[in-house]
Amino acid sequence: MPQLSPRVQALVQPHLRDLDVYDPNFTPTRINLSANENTYDVPPAARAAIDEALAATHTNRYPDPLSNELRDELAAWHGTDRAHVIVGNGGDELLYNFLLAFGGPGRTLAICPPTFSEYAFFASLTQTDVAEVWRDPETMLADDDALVDAAGKANLIILTSPNNPTGDLAPVALVRRLCEACPGLVMVDEAYGEFAAPGSSCESLLDAYDNLVVLHTLSKAFALAGARCGYVLAAPDVVEALAAVRQLYSVNVLTQAAALTAVRLRDEFAPTVATIVSERARVLAALRELARTRELTVWPSEGNFLLVRVPGASEVRRRLRDEFSILVRDFSYAPGLADCLRVTVGTPEENDAVLAALGELLPAAGPSDSLQALS
Ligand code: PMP
Repeated sequence: MPQLSPRVQALVQPHLRDLDVYDPNFTPTRINLSANENTYDVPPAARAAIDEALAATHTNRYPDPLSNELRDELAAWHGTDRAHVIVGNGGDELLYNFLLAFGGPGRTLAICPPTFSEYAFFASLTQTDVAEVWRDPETMLADDDALVDAAGKANLIILTSPNNPTGDLAPVALVRRLCEACPGLVMVDEAYGEFAAPGSSCESLLDAYDNLVVLHTLSKAFALAGARCGYVLAAPDVVEALAAVRQLYSVNVLTQAAALTAVRLRDEFAPTVATIVSERARVLAALRELARTRELTVWPSEGNFLLVRVPGASEVRRRLRDEFSILVRDFSYAPGLADCLRVTVGTPEENDAVLAALGELLPAAGPSDSLQALS
């Protein structure tokens, strides 16, 4: 990754000197399964209603800073009230604000890597120390007791359920233990929660634990990644702190109108979520079948993506892109994810294309032949 120029390194705050220059490394492809988006897009009936709402939205006035109509709708859906909900410009803004409000120098955030890289990034921006409780390198599962121990010593802990990129859930019983152990706040990031088995959300614990914070996004199940809207469910005083640090107008009028319409019409989104869940099972089974003759590991997932390990993953990713015009995410560089690719579950056609391409690219023989076959 390129670094900031020496001149600017001397000018930025000392803790920001080693920041990478942002490079999304994005290549337009026929099939993009690299960012865990919802490749089905918004269902037509909901899209028509959103278009109508957008057409009726005036852009000459500032937005309602707190998106109160949307908060009310989200609160009604989740069986709570507005005071327990805050909306942000994507889950990312809320994660940043969480670290801004509750982290900082001398504070520690516990995380469970491999996990979503933004937690450590926002911790570094806010000078929050990070305590890493690593997953088992083979099963990718968390060590519950080690997490409870870390939670007891941390100011904040973030668990992801389902976890990106490993796909596993944080059991509700574990989150309960973390809420009891942690003197500060426990965030459960349920960005992919709608794709998980019913009953896996930690929301049921919110009444019992005022230190629990649950993060959601409309980027995944609601196919609104481009609109940038996320929300947090938490105790009213935690919501107040997140409201106090936020940029006043970060959620624009068009996003508020689109998100409100989508959430009102939430039942319209259920069929695509169900299709993604069944496609996930089909792709997992097909990859397991492929693993009988190829060197390939795949982990089960409760999200809209699957993590696979293949020899020469970076080269496989490059060939998928250049020869098949299919983009997947390469995690080879990331600690704990050597030779791992993350593949978003797409439409049946997209999934068939990636399965067929992997079948062609991965050598059918043992590991000693793999480099040869890939070259
Ligand atoms: N949490 C997790 C685990 C994610 O993977 C993502 C997006 N990739 C987010 C939060 C944030 O999503 P957004 O900012 O699009 O709402």
